[in-house]
Amino acid sequence: MHVYERFHKMFSGVNENTFKTCRTCGGACEHNKIGTLLPGEKEYMAKEMGLSVSEFEVRYLDILRMDDGTLLHVLKLGKLCSFLNKETEECECRNFKPIFCKVYPVVFTVEVDKVNFTIDNWCKLSRNEVFRNYFETAIPLLSSLPIPIEWFRHVVSYDNLFFDYNKLEKYRNRKKRYEIFSLEEILDTEKAEIENTSLFIDPTFGRLTLNFENFY
Ligand code: SF4
Ligand code: SF4
Repeated sequence: MHVYERFHKMFSGVNENTFKTCRTCGGACEHNKIGTLLPGEKEYMAKEMGLSVSEFEVRYLDILRMDDGTLLHVLKLGKLCSFLNKETEECECRNFKPIFCKVYPVVFTVEVDKVNFTIDNWCKLSRNEVFRNYFETAIPLLSSLPIPIEWFRHVVSYDNLFFDYNKLEKYRNRKKRYEIFSLEEILDTEKAEIENTSLFIDPTFGRLTLNFENFY
């Protein structure tokens, strides 16, 4: 069994109660999270969907180029996640979604040559002891995944920042469907802090402008 398939079988990352909490929060993490795929995760997800890797990349991904030239695959930047069903507000890849979507509010820091996993106190789910305990059960599973520390080092350079998604969307509009963004471009869209948000349909564009992430 694929290591990521095993992970998904062991940790569901969701139940009705977490979803209720996320609704009261308004999906605020959507404004703070860039969905980064783990090494080998695009191949795993493409296979689950019966797509070639190149088809999967064009439909769902962009690339972040780090300052040293390392390329990381991320869910498309500057727009709603292509896996979000706008009618049901559900994630259409629930059973094989990016693992760092599934485990949030688990986040990480890197100290010298050690990765520390912790719960993000900014997330409303962290304020409920039952949820907190549940998400902490993902930490040993994450620790057992064969992820190089270099991957974590790169991701911490942007993962806990706040971004101006309107600005990011403008960058996206100038680019192709599957495109490389430099770390500098991403950091140029950083905001000092997140704004209060709520779920609503923008009548001008007739589309959902904010979604619930990570809990379907
Ligand atoms: S996971 Fe996101 S939407 Fe749910 S409570 Fe946390 S910040 Fe809010
Ligand atoms: S959890 Fe949200 S951001 Fe992650 S793949 Fe599903 S819809 Fe996209």
